[in-house]
Amino acid sequence: MIPELTQVADRYGTPSYVYFMDMVQQRIRQVREAFEGRFEISFAVKSNPNPGLLTRLSTTVPFLDVSSGGELITAVDRGWDAERISFTGPGKRDPELAAAIDHGVGEVVIESVDEAQRLDRIAAEKGLRQRILIRIAPSWTPPGFGDYMAGKPCAFGIDEEVLSDAIGAILALQHVELVGLHIYSGTQCLDSEAISENYRNFIGIFREYSERFDLAPSKLVFGSGIGVPYHDNNQPVDLMGLAEMVNPMLAELKSDERFADTLLLLETGRYLVGEAGIYLTRVIKKKHSRGVEICVCDGGMHHHLAACGHMGQVIPRNYRFLKVVSSHPDGPEQAFQLVGPLCTSLDTLARNVKFNGLEVGDVLGVHCSGAYGLTSSPVHFISHDSPKEVIVETVGGETVLEDVTHIVAGARPVSREATAPTRYDS
Ligand SMILES: *Cc1c(COP(=O)(O)O)cnc(C)c1O
Repeated sequence: MIPELTQVADRYGTPSYVYFMDMVQQRIRQVREAFEGRFEISFAVKSNPNPGLLTRLSTTVPFLDVSSGGELITAVDRGWDAERISFTGPGKRDPELAAAIDHGVGEVVIESVDEAQRLDRIAAEKGLRQRILIRIAPSWTPPGFGDYMAGKPCAFGIDEEVLSDAIGAILALQHVELVGLHIYSGTQCLDSEAISENYRNFIGIFREYSERFDLAPSKLVFGSGIGVPYHDNNQPVDLMGLAEMVNPMLAELKSDERFADTLLLLETGRYLVGEAGIYLTRVIKKKHSRGVEICVCDGGMHHHLAACGHMGQVIPRNYRFLKVVSSHPDGPEQAFQLVGPLCTSLDTLARNVKFNGLEVGDVLGVHCSGAYGLTSSPVHFISHDSPKEVIVETVGGETVLEDVTHIVAGARPVSREATAPTRYDS
């Protein structure tokens, strides 16, 4: 039993997302210690852009990576100095590139030659020079990544096969300044050896192209790929084991004069925040249907697409659940199907999940919900209320709960062109 979860359910109701900030900060410290400071951390905002979270991270994480003009504005609004922000994304539009320059982002992460040329033109119009990283799409990733983009057609970055020509073309531009390289080629890997092999490949690519073009990069970004244990039989990544394999590689890279002043960044989202979040939902109805006990919950796919198996999973597998509030004594173990309130069978939170009884009013928690939760879900579908978001943290020795509820209502105005209102005349 986690008493804060019961408190959230009582005080704020359900459905709710709960983020345990102490766990996030502890994870940040663990990563820093494991790699002995060789990696600085860059937090991928898209994994959880909650403004309350971004405010709290600004004192413990040095860098952010944003994936849209909207994320950029959210971060700047929360006090992040744009200098500490990089901007990735395969489809950055001109107004977003202009906003990046205007805000003074640290680097725009270039994903195609065309994008570099557009950025160059926009920077030229402003009489400025914008720092950039080039995102490389490697031709290979080791097996073991839940999601990977290497060695197959993909929209992200510049394919290794055409990289030399691309770098040549980008170096010829006058208003962008190439200051480093970036690779993020796969994620949700729990196998420390595969992650380490992936970094070895990154380092090989970083070295090869830095030497070929005589670059002394100020930044090299390693898309971490580190996963979290979503499902019952998942083993968490052995962080210390990973660091033992990776630290010598990083030390060797840094011993090369070319990379002596290079900042090595570990870019990660889910590994910092995924395990620190729990989604709370309450059973609101039971139905016995053709041999199956179905519990209809007040939360579901509209808040948590990933838990319903619709965020890239080929075969939906249950997230791990815990019972938070229960109004009855434990009974014998029984299997349940958990569904949400939406009028679609896609809205299924779990199949064949076992509890010692489950009744209307009981509150369940979904583990590993701190990343790719609320803002990765179709929150407007079927017009249900949006959930609360609550941060639990220790402040001055006391446990404090704070409502940080935030809904991103569509695109931010940065990239929106004004259109005349449409009128309907009956
Ligand atoms: C999404 C993303 C990340 C973070 O991925 P996680 O799986 O959350 O660690 C890092 N870098 C880039 C460029 C991304 O798009």
